[in-house]
Amino acid sequence: MNFLKPSSVIGILGGGQLAKMMSMAASNLGYKVHIYAPEKDNIASEVSARFTQGSYDDLETLMTFASDCNVITYEFENVPVDTLKKIEKKYVLRPNSQALEIAQSRLAEKKYAEKCGAITARYVPILNREDIEASIAKLGADAIMKSDRLGYDGKGQARIDETTNLSGAWMAVGQRDAILEEYVDFEAEFSVILTRTFEGNIIFWDSSKNIHQHGILKQASLPAGPLIASQRSEARKLASRIADELDYIGVLTVEFFATTNGPVFNEMAPRVHNSGHWTIEATVTSQFENHIRAITGMPLGSTETLADRIEMENLIGDYTDQLDNILSDNNKHLHLYGKDKIIEGRKMGHVTRLYFD
Ligand code: ATP
Ligand code: MG
Repeated sequence: MNFLKPSSVIGILGGGQLAKMMSMAASNLGYKVHIYAPEKDNIASEVSARFTQGSYDDLETLMTFASDCNVITYEFENVPVDTLKKIEKKYVLRPNSQALEIAQSRLAEKKYAEKCGAITARYVPILNREDIEASIAKLGADAIMKSDRLGYDGKGQARIDETTNLSGAWMAVGQRDAILEEYVDFEAEFSVILTRTFEGNIIFWDSSKNIHQHGILKQASLPAGPLIASQRSEARKLASRIADELDYIGVLTVEFFATTNGPVFNEMAPRVHNSGHWTIEATVTSQFENHIRAITGMPLGSTETLADRIEMENLIGDYTDQLDNILSDNNKHLHLYGKDKIIEGRKMGHVTRLYFD
C-alpha cells in the first residue's frame, strides 16, 4: 500500500461546491477532510470532519491548519501564492503552487500555454485606461476585455465592439491589469479534463460540448459531436504537455474553443471543473474521486463512460420552479449545493441526465 492510509487528513482550501464534492469523494475512500475557508457558513464544512475558519492571507492560521493535514489541495484559485509557497516548504501541496500561480493570471496562463505549443486567441496586455485604444488598433474592435486576475463565471469581463464606451468597459473589468483578447468565432466549446499521478501517468475523461450563457457554463453534453471529437486528441496532447511541464498532480482542466482552424486554448483551471460534474454518475470514476486518488497516491480509477448520451445542466439563480419537472424524471440526478441564498447568476446546483439507447 503506497498511498495515504485511511483516516489520513486531506486539507482543502475553499468551502464551495467543488470542495464539498471533493470532500464527499474523500470520505468514501476513508479519508478525513479538513476544510479551510473564510466563511463560517460554508457548504463544504457541512460534510467534512474538520473546519478552520480563516482568511487566505492569515499565514499563522493557515500553518496551523496545514500541520493537521497529510496532504493539502484547493478548490479556490485566489489564495495568495506567497502564502502557498510558505506552506509548500513544510507540507505537501497538490497540485503545486506553480500551477496555481500560472492559472491566477490570464496573461501568465496564455504565455505558459503558448510555451507548451498552444494556439490562443490573439491578445494584448492592458495596464491602464490609456492602453485600450492602442490595443484595439492592434487587435481590431471585435474583442473581449478581461481582468487579468480574479475573474470567474464571466465576471470582470467586457465585450468590446465599435460602439462600446471604453471607459465603461474599463470600469466593468475593475480598472486593473487586464488583457484585450480577440473575439473568437468558435463553432463550439469543450474542455479536456485529465488526472495526473505523481508517477506521471495521465488519464482523460471524454470531452463534453460546453454551452455558456452570459459567460457562465449552462450545459455540458456528450457525445460532443464530430468537430470536437476530431480536435480532442490535439487538445489532449497540449493539456498533457502542460501537466507534465508543471509536474502536476491531480485533476487539471483546460478549456478550448473548437474553431474551423482547430482547437484554440481558452483557459486552464488547476482543479476539478464544472464541465466535469457529469462524471459523478456517468463514468466509472468521477473527477472528484480521481483527484483524491491522485493526491493521496492511489492508483486511478477508470474514466470509462457508462451511458450513451449525457446531459449536465447547471441550476443558476432561482431554480425552484424546475424542481417538480426534474424530480419526476427518474433518469435525472439532482444535486443541490445547499447554498442558503438564491442569487441571480449564482450556481445553486446541477442536474445530470443519462440516456441509454
Ligand atoms: P469560468 O472560470 O467560469 O470558466 P471565466 O470567467 O474564467 O469563466 P472565460 O472562460 O474566459 O471566463 O470566458 C467565459 C466564456 O465567455 C467562455 O467560455 C466563452 O463562452 C466566452 N468567451 C471568453 N473569451 C472569449 C473569446 N475570446 N471569444 C469568444 N468568446 C469568449
Ligand atoms: Mg472559462
